[in-house]
Amino acid sequence: MAILDQGPLNYKEQLPPIIKENYGKWRYHENPKPGVLKHVSESGAELYSIRVGSPRLVSLDFIREICELADEYCDGYLRFTARHNVEFLVSDAAKVEPLIAALGAKGLPVGGTGASISNIVHTQGWVHCHTPATDASGVVKAVMDDLYEYFVSMKLPAQMKMSLACCLNMCGAAHCSDIAIVGVHRTPPRIDHDKIRKGTEIPSLVASCPTGAIRPNPKEKSVVVNDAKCMYCGNCYTMAPGMEIIDPENDGIAILVGGKVANARTNPMFSRMVIPFLPNNPPRWPEVTEAVRNIVETWAAHAHKGEKMGEWIERIGWERFFTLTGIEFTDKLIDDFIFSRETFRTSAAFKY
Ligand code: SF4
Ligand code: SF4
Repeated sequence: MAILDQGPLNYKEQLPPIIKENYGKWRYHENPKPGVLKHVSESGAELYSIRVGSPRLVSLDFIREICELADEYCDGYLRFTARHNVEFLVSDAAKVEPLIAALGAKGLPVGGTGASISNIVHTQGWVHCHTPATDASGVVKAVMDDLYEYFVSMKLPAQMKMSLACCLNMCGAAHCSDIAIVGVHRTPPRIDHDKIRKGTEIPSLVASCPTGAIRPNPKEKSVVVNDAKCMYCGNCYTMAPGMEIIDPENDGIAILVGGKVANARTNPMFSRMVIPFLPNNPPRWPEVTEAVRNIVETWAAHAHKGEKMGEWIERIGWERFFTLTGIEFTDKLIDDFIFSRETFRTSAAFKY
C-alpha cells in the first residue's frame, strides 16, 4: 500500500503512553475540582486532564508558552478541545497542583468542567468568514469575561454548554445548546448587477437559494430576488460577491435557549428562540452579555440540581420562563420547524 505524505497522522500514533497502555480499560472518571478531570484505569493508572480556557484566536507566542508548560509538567502532551480549551494530560498526580499554579501565574483560567459554563464553541466571525451577521470570537470573549466566575467554579445546577454561530448557517452547533448566540441578517441581499454580470454563474447562484427566492433576470443578464421569500441566510453571497448581505444597521444577534445534544435523562432537544434581536455593539456587546447573564442566573436560581436549561424549561413551562427572566414574549418566539410535528401546543396557544 502506498504511504502518502499528506493528511493527518493516525491518531493512535499521537496518543500519550498512558492512554495507549490503558486503551479500553478506563473504569471511571471524576471531577475533583474545577478544571480537573481524573480518569482511573483498571490497571490503577490515573490520568489528570487540566482544562484551560483559550480565546480561540491565539498567538504563536501563546502556543509556545503552553507547549513549554506541557513539556515541563506532562511530557509535552496537550490537546485543544472542540470548545477551544487547552487540556494538559498529566500522568503524575504530584504535578497537578504545580501546573495549576504555573497556569495561574500566567493568568490562564482553569475551569470549564462539571457544573460550570464550558467555553463557548463558536464559528469564524468577522475575522475569517464572508457571511457573518456578527463577530464570533469577539462576542465570546465579552460573554465569557462577564461569566468568568461560572467558568472557574462548579456552582451551577448542571454543566451549561453555550455556542455562537455568526449566521444562520450555524456552523457552531447553535441548534442544540443550552444557550445559543446566533448572528442574524434582517435584510435581503443587495444586488450589484455589474458584479454578477462579470463573474457569476447564474444557474449556480439560482440553485444556491434554499427558498427559491432568486430567479434569472435576462434583461439585466443578472438575477432578481423575491424579498418576501428571502430568509436572509446569506447563502447566495457565498456564491456571488454581487449579492451583498452584510448590513451594519440591521444585522445583529438572536438568543436561543434549551437545546441539548445528549440523551441522558431526557431526549435531545432543539434550542428555541427567546430574544429575536440584540444590536451589534462591539467591542464588548453589553446588551448580549447582560441578556445571557440574566438567563444563566435565572436558571441557576430556579433549576433543580442536575437539571439542564431545556429540562428546567420543560418542567416549569415556557410562560414561566418568560415571567422569571423578564424577557418580553411575542407570538413569533420559540416555535421552530419541529414544534408543529411533535405537539399542537405552539407559542400562539400560550396562556398570556
Ligand atoms: Fe460563516 Fe455563517 Fe459559519 Fe459564521 S456561522 S462561520 S458566518 S457560515
Ligand atoms: Fe435566498 Fe438566502 Fe440569498 Fe435570501 S439570502 S436570496 S434566502 S440565498
